[in-house]
Order: sequence, then C-alpha cells, then structure tokens
Amino acid sequence: MIVVKIGGAAGISHDSLCADAAALVARGERLVIVHGGSDATTTLARQLGHEPQFITSPSGHSSRRTDPRTLEIFQMACRGVVNQSLVLGLVRRGVRAVGVSGIDASLWRGTRKAAIRALEAGRTRIIRDDCSGSVEHVDPALLNTLLDAGCTPVISPPGLSEANEPINVDADRAAARTAAALRASTLCLLSNVPGLLRAYPDEESLVSSITIERLDEAESLAQGRMKNKVLAAREALLAGVPRVIIGDARVASPITRALEGAGTVFA
Ligand code: ADP
Repeated sequence: MIVVKIGGAAGISHDSLCADAAALVARGERLVIVHGGSDATTTLARQLGHEPQFITSPSGHSSRRTDPRTLEIFQMACRGVVNQSLVLGLVRRGVRAVGVSGIDASLWRGTRKAAIRALEAGRTRIIRDDCSGSVEHVDPALLNTLLDAGCTPVISPPGLSEANEPINVDADRAAARTAAALRASTLCLLSNVPGLLRAYPDEESLVSSITIERLDEAESLAQGRMKNKVLAAREALLAGVPRVIIGDARVASPITRALEGAGTVFA
C-alpha cells in the first residue's frame, strides 16, 4: 500500500502523475492519492473577487486566513477543480478512480482552531471565526472498501471538525495520518522541488536521506511550506510508516522515481 500526496504548484503535470499511477495500479499496487488545493484556492479566490489573505502567527508561521467565504472557495477549488482533474486523468487511463473528501464517511476527523493569534502591524489580534484546523483521526474503512473493490481513492480536503463543520486542513499532514491508518509501506510527498534542499533554492543541494535520529536537523533546514512536509514525515514515521519520501513531481514517472529512492528518503 502506497499513499501519494500530490502538490499543487506550477510545473506539476497531472498527466505524468496519472500515467505513472495508472501503471502502478495496473501492476496490482494498492494506491491512495491525496492532494491539497492551496494554489487552486488562490487562483479561484482572485477570479471570484475575494482576495486571498494570509496571516502570520507570533512565532512567524504563515497560513491562509480561512474566513467562511474562503472556506466555500477552498471547497470549490479542492473538490471541483483539483480532485476532478486528477480523477478524470486516472479514469481516462483505465483506473477506477473515486474522488472523496475528508468529510465523506467522516474520513478525516479533526479539530477547528477556536482562536488564532495573528500579528498585525506589530500587534497580536485574536481571530475566532477561522475555519481551519488539523486532522487527528483517520477512519480507513471507506478507503479499504474502495481498494477491495478495485478502486483507487483520490482524497481531497476539507476535513471534518468535532462539531461536524468542514475545516481547511493541511494535506501533507493529513496524508501522513492516512498512511499510518492504512499501514502503508511508503508515503510519497511529491512537490515542485527535488526533495529537501540543504541550501534552498539550490537544487544540487538535495539531502538524499534522513534517519529518525536526524529529524531535528531536517526540520531546521526547511523553511516555509517545506516545514509542513518535514513535520508530516516525522508524524508518519513516528506513527509506524516505515518509509517517507519527499520527491519531485515535475519529472516523468514521478511516483516510480520516488519509490526507487529519488528525493529525500526518511526511514
Ligand atoms: P506543494 O504545494 O507542492 O505541496 P509546497 O509549496 O507546500 O508544495 O512546499 C514546497 C515548497 O517549499 C518549495 O516549492 C519551496 O519553495 C519551499 N521550501 C522551503 N525550504 C525548502 C527546502 N529547504 N528544500 C526544498 N524546498 C523548500
């Protein structure tokens, strides 16, 4: 069982990802695909005239401000745009792909952040109506049913809060929890970089392997959104997933390449 999380940045072709996924499924591999929708949400929000906003926490962490309207747009982008594009790409290649969201059958359960501290002009503001949170529990039953029926699940945010509200969740970390719940042998996090870079953005400075003992060092190298991937790798390893690979989604056969060890291998 392999869980593959597909990034959304420019330069990532769904065509080569879907072709590679189809080849793996045709060989009998049980595959679950997870994706996010950050870039698609930014694009759609601009098209709909709801300018995207980002907030910075007092510790310097930046995240999307998910007000109720942004949550709607986030769901349209994730479910309507990204998920359907991936499902279509797989179905066209003969895969019985099924799109599900974290809400379906309570797949991704988590907690909404009741209060977020945001730095604004040197002062801290408390935001209470934000619709973001994190996935804490994955129910693998629906995924196993689909896999047993010969289908390939393609999972999209949002997740579901304890009060049954949709929440904007980080797909890298949700993929880590999903891999653990499915007892996957490998979690691949594919993005628009060759892996974790020691001297970002120098693509020659790839860190090719990280052991559990050196996870702190890996975390100190990652900035921005790469931090979530290293955190996801840590969570997956500690939850029993034997191997996590942060690999390049821009190359031909990106999943196969990552499984062969191209990228940063955490084990
Ligand atoms: P995706 O949307 O594909 O999941 P993200 O944009 O969330 O990917 O995260 C990948 C980004 O992390 C890279 O495009 C890069 O800008 C950034 N990054 C920051 N530090 C590093 C690093 N040390 N190595 C690689 N990428 C890094």
